[in-house]
Amino acid sequence: MQVVNIDEQNCKGCTLCSQVCKVNACTGEPLIPHFIDTKKCVNCGQCVVTCPARAAKDINCIEEVQKAVEDKNTITVVQGAPAVRVTLGEEFGMDSGSIVPGRMAAALRKLGFDRVYDTCFAADLTIMEEGHELLKRVKDGGTFPMFTSCCPAWVLYMEKNYPDLLGYLSTCKSPQQMFGAVVKSYIAKKEGINPARIYMVSVMPCTAKKYEITRPEMICDGYKNVDAVLTTRDLAELLRKKHIDISQLVEEDFDTPFGEYTGAGVIFGATGGVMEAALRTACEVLDGKPLKKLSFYDVRGISSFREAEVEAGGIKLKVAVVHGLEKIKPLLDSLRGGRLNYHFIEVMTCPEGCIGGGGQPNIPKKSVR
Ligand code: SF4
Repeated sequence: MQVVNIDEQNCKGCTLCSQVCKVNACTGEPLIPHFIDTKKCVNCGQCVVTCPARAAKDINCIEEVQKAVEDKNTITVVQGAPAVRVTLGEEFGMDSGSIVPGRMAAALRKLGFDRVYDTCFAADLTIMEEGHELLKRVKDGGTFPMFTSCCPAWVLYMEKNYPDLLGYLSTCKSPQQMFGAVVKSYIAKKEGINPARIYMVSVMPCTAKKYEITRPEMICDGYKNVDAVLTTRDLAELLRKKHIDISQLVEEDFDTPFGEYTGAGVIFGATGGVMEAALRTACEVLDGKPLKKLSFYDVRGISSFREAEVEAGGIKLKVAVVHGLEKIKPLLDSLRGGRLNYHFIEVMTCPEGCIGGGGQPNIPKKSVR
């Protein structure tokens, strides 16, 4: 499903979208309305966040979410991703970088959601799964490198451009999808709720997540894992519509049991975060004892390609971190040629990871990346 489009009536042909599009999907001549080549587009939304005319847009389901919240027979469950809490405050005049998970929880409750959870919990689930998948491939033998699979734009890029390499992707669902699956199975069963009554909403920094929920394999027992995605922009719009100013709210906790999480879940929001979280799990299991230090500084930073070698349990793990799809192409071409010597590679489509996602607040005109 295509979730990002350009409204040709509003497009001024300024070319900014084609400058930020790393898959050459935004196309057109200067001063003439542009269009999106859907064969190439991966729905990352970098054109949306950049477009000064607001002609590039992602589909919007704010009204559908409002209806579900107002329906007394529907149990609305919402999860908020780690990268949203870092930018939502700015939309309400708070200082840049204000971190507002408690205010976000309070705002979502004020909107009327029945359960308010934190995607960081599911990020922890993902890393337990992905970390152990890596360990299994290391111990039992498997395809290397293993690539992360939590960025739906990256997965779509692989499907469109390197379908022969799909077996290298981790088999794990993204945190968003794991959370939805757990709510509609575990929570539904534990609390005796018919899953048909649950409407699962995600608040994400990402437009590609709107596409991810429509994938056929994200339906389980006849129910979609996640029913609707609000981007950070959408949530801000909904809050304004309801006259809720998060800068004025008192912080609240997320609901339990899915409001608890580790720091490894939180760092998913930035480039290198998934890799560092995976290394924490993998190294501890390989060493058979608690880690002395949680930090893996070599995979941190904002350079678009970083690599590191980590030793644990007598095994040297060679890993790499990439953000921006133009940087992954040479690696994939090497892999096709049979030469790519890594165990694990994290790939995020957006600049600096989900923190720079296409669903985040629009970039001021002067600071286009
Ligand atoms: Fe979405 Fe993050 Fe991937 Fe960007 S990097 S497309 S925000 S999952």
